[in-house]
Amino acid sequence: MSEQVAPERAIIGQPPALWRGRPVWAEIHLDQLSENVRLLADRVHPARLMAVVKANAYGHGAAPVAQAALEAGASYLGVVCVDEGVQLRAAGIEAPIVVLGYTPVEQAEAVIENRLTPVVNSRQFALALSALASQFGVRCPVHVKVDTGMARFGCSPAEAVDLAEWLRELPSIDVEGICTHFASADEEDKAFTQAQYERFLATTERLPWIPIRHAGATAVALDLPEMVLDMVRVGLGLYGYAPGETAPPVPIRPALALRSRIARIHTLEPGETVSYGRTWRAERRTRVGLVMIGYGDGLPRLLSNRGEVLIRGRRASIIGRVCMDMTMVDLTDIPEAQLEDEVTIIGAQGAERIGAQDLAVLCGTISYEILTGISARVPRLYLRGGRVVHAESLVATATTSYAGSSAAVPSTDPSPPR
Ligand SMILES: *Cc1c(COP(=O)(O)O)cnc(C)c1O
Repeated sequence: MSEQVAPERAIIGQPPALWRGRPVWAEIHLDQLSENVRLLADRVHPARLMAVVKANAYGHGAAPVAQAALEAGASYLGVVCVDEGVQLRAAGIEAPIVVLGYTPVEQAEAVIENRLTPVVNSRQFALALSALASQFGVRCPVHVKVDTGMARFGCSPAEAVDLAEWLRELPSIDVEGICTHFASADEEDKAFTQAQYERFLATTERLPWIPIRHAGATAVALDLPEMVLDMVRVGLGLYGYAPGETAPPVPIRPALALRSRIARIHTLEPGETVSYGRTWRAERRTRVGLVMIGYGDGLPRLLSNRGEVLIRGRRASIIGRVCMDMTMVDLTDIPEAQLEDEVTIIGAQGAERIGAQDLAVLCGTISYEILTGISARVPRLYLRGGRVVHAESLVATATTSYAGSSAAVPSTDPSPPR
């Protein structure tokens, strides 16, 4: 059903030792991510693009993604909590960072110290920000959030007008933005979104002095260009997926692949069972492959006896229950499969592709949850031009330049250019 395709680029050369030891890794193809950002920035232009990098950039790694997105045309970053903003500042990122979620008053100091832009929803929080900003001799930009029908975060339209006018008078506070969030912009029926949009516009018309109005996320960037206003907060689209069921109108493509290797191959006789609970029983002589990835890495346990992986460019079924750290697959119909063969859980191999969206459908969830579920234990490799330029694991971070290095041995099987 999904038209979305996964990265086709292969890694060129030898992987750095940093991650060679762990047979599970996520590849983040920064060229594809940059391409997605450019496509989306062009689509919403002249509105600004806020790159939403919350939840570790949807599993892709917050700082490297933020850096790449800013270079490719995003001008703002969006996170949900103060810690996520602090993490980006610690990585040396200077762009404006809007904290889209609720920030408790105890974190006002961290907001000021890290030059974050919070959404303000209480006067007590605003007073704390104002006092601290004055004390440090800085100004604190803030945004006001209007709840127009999502019934989540924000204040009512009437409260938002009062709050914004009150904030305007506070020392050292600049009301830079006003925003809302749509509940069903990715659905075919846009009537509720239209009603929310009109409610929002009616509010902003009473506050014409606020410079940045923003309402939409990826669904608006893709489907509702008339609602982009002054800025769009794009998350999922950066990573190459579209929310909802419709194919994206611009050729964004997934930037992440999740891979592992075969760690053991053994044969079961008919009647023998696999994994916890013995939920899979061999009906024929079965060649079983052990893959060192499990739900502790973010491979959903709901894929037990349902999911597939790619090996040697072909589909292999997951058999038995997915364990925390390991998963078994049926290799009987892939006799050429060998120990150490690469296993693609998300991504492309040969002509076959599995997207996060495909896993999500099997699990009754959305691609967002699959991507954000890729755990901290999975090393992240960042690629440019097919080469690993940066890697992060639980134990180390390394930035590698392969330029001119003998390690950059071209793959014997280079992927075709897109
Ligand atoms: C997560 C989030 C977004 C991004 O949504 P996508 O559908 O991933 O583009 C935008 N705005 C807010 C307030 C969010 O929490």
